[in-house]
Amino acid sequence: MRALMWFRSDLRVADNTALAAACDAADEVVGVFVVAPQQWRSHDWGAMRVDFTVRSVEALRHSLAKLNIPLIVLRVDRFADAPAAVSRFAKAAGCGGVWWNDEPEVNEIARDSAVEAALSAIDVKAHRFIDQTILDVSTIRTASDQWYTVFTPFRRRWLEHWRDSGAVIAKPPARRAAVSLDDSALCGLPLVEPGALLDIVAEFEGTTRSDLWKAGEGEARQRLSRFIDERVGDYDNRRDFMAVNGTSVLSPYLAVGAISARQCFEAARETNRGKADGGKKGIDTWISELIWREFYRHVLMGFPHVCRGRAFRREVDEAVEWRYDEGDFRRWQSGESGYPIVDAAMRQLAQTGWMHNRARMIVAMFLSKHLLIDWRWGERHFMRHLVDGDFASNNGGWQWSASTGTDAAPYFRIFNPFSQSAKFDSDGAYIRRFVPELAKAPAAALHDPDKLADADLDYPALVVDHPAGRARALAAFKQASRHDAR
Ligand SMILES: Cc1cc2nc3c(=O)[nH]c(=O)nc-3n(C[C@H](O)[C@H](O)[C@H](O)COP(=O)(O)OP(=O)(O)OC[C@H]3O[C@@H](n4cnc5c(N)ncnc54)[C@H](O)[C@@H]3O)c2cc1C
Repeated sequence: MRALMWFRSDLRVADNTALAAACDAADEVVGVFVVAPQQWRSHDWGAMRVDFTVRSVEALRHSLAKLNIPLIVLRVDRFADAPAAVSRFAKAAGCGGVWWNDEPEVNEIARDSAVEAALSAIDVKAHRFIDQTILDVSTIRTASDQWYTVFTPFRRRWLEHWRDSGAVIAKPPARRAAVSLDDSALCGLPLVEPGALLDIVAEFEGTTRSDLWKAGEGEARQRLSRFIDERVGDYDNRRDFMAVNGTSVLSPYLAVGAISARQCFEAARETNRGKADGGKKGIDTWISELIWREFYRHVLMGFPHVCRGRAFRREVDEAVEWRYDEGDFRRWQSGESGYPIVDAAMRQLAQTGWMHNRARMIVAMFLSKHLLIDWRWGERHFMRHLVDGDFASNNGGWQWSASTGTDAAPYFRIFNPFSQSAKFDSDGAYIRRFVPELAKAPAAALHDPDKLADADLDYPALVVDHPAGRARALAAFKQASRHDAR
């Protein structure tokens, strides 16, 4: 039997559950990846994310070739076209079954059900696996069988589950029999020639930074081992300082699946004397961040309305009178808000496709609180520019900041951007790196609006005063929280 392995957000050979199962089941394995540019655009992917994805597909093609597994790329417009394309391809390539790892988002689930039905109509079986998370987070429930809405008890239960079941790393696939595909049978299928895959990037808006983001699982594994060897032990002390290389910067690789969350977890645990918790503080803290990633996927599964542009706390969200001020929004987007830390962060995003986690929280809270602009505008802007754009974590992070989500920041705890930079970028190294107008400003001016105004710099005035923005947000949320039914 010949097996078809459908790769999506799992662009790796190592620790790939569905690939390992396909290789167990069949001597000959064919890989397929489906590009869906219109669907990607409707999911707000920009050039940065698309470029990294297709380069990761190219890297995967090379790794698979060493195992004698050819990787074919098909092009459809939208997910709705996937059932016909995948089932026709499976038939033309003579594959008796299709293997894949599930994705938790609503459109992806609907696509997979439709593909499964189309395959069943031609007597081809779909083999589906859970692989995007360390544990199957759909099975983690409260004592009364509810989905969790608060992180800390979720984490506790997650650790109990892990103690009971462990996290199983998939078997590495061995080199196998060469596959010869019948070109005439594939004729008429929407194939993308290997040389043409990168051309798809030009169909998307925005810049790309292939110089910063080398693709492939080899690069991901190197980054993981460097982080584990050199930085994880001190993660708890350094992770909030934006100028410091204190975090793993593995998020782009996790987003495309060039590395699995399990590989990250197991590497961390190994240096933590086998412990997932109760070991070295830095390592425990990093493992907790991996569990945050699991938590936001759990939330998507339990509350799929968050995939449809609705807030977790719908009543609060609908009662807040969000502003739709395009001028203020543009100043935030372009890093011209007059708040040095906000502007540095937004320019880091524009220039590199990535932003430090502390900076993400600061700018998201600034947009949704100080500017009272609908958090969905910010969520969309992030997706369009991030190299690590990931629906669950992005939506979770935005709703946390906007106080409309699960376990969200209470609405009255509004970060003061000046205090945040004084604490987490005290010498202004991060600000100066991304905001050249402030390169020569004294550090004190970067963290104090009065000194900043007095410094006579060629730099925008504040888009809104901190006290005025804060008061406006507090009033809007106070009124809206009366509607909160939860
Ligand atoms: C408004 C907002 C938007 C965000 N959008 C995204 C996004 O689109 N994609 C994305 O991967 N992360 C997102 N995050 C979460 C977090 O900021 C990034 O995962 C992190 O900055 C990536 O850097 P790192 O790989 O060095 O993380 P590390 O600190 O090394 O953590 C390791 C991994 O744990 C996971 N992780 C860490 N923090 C979080 C978190 N708060 N929530 C969920 N997972 C986490 C990530 O997969 C990360 O790569 C967002 C956070 C906020 C506040």
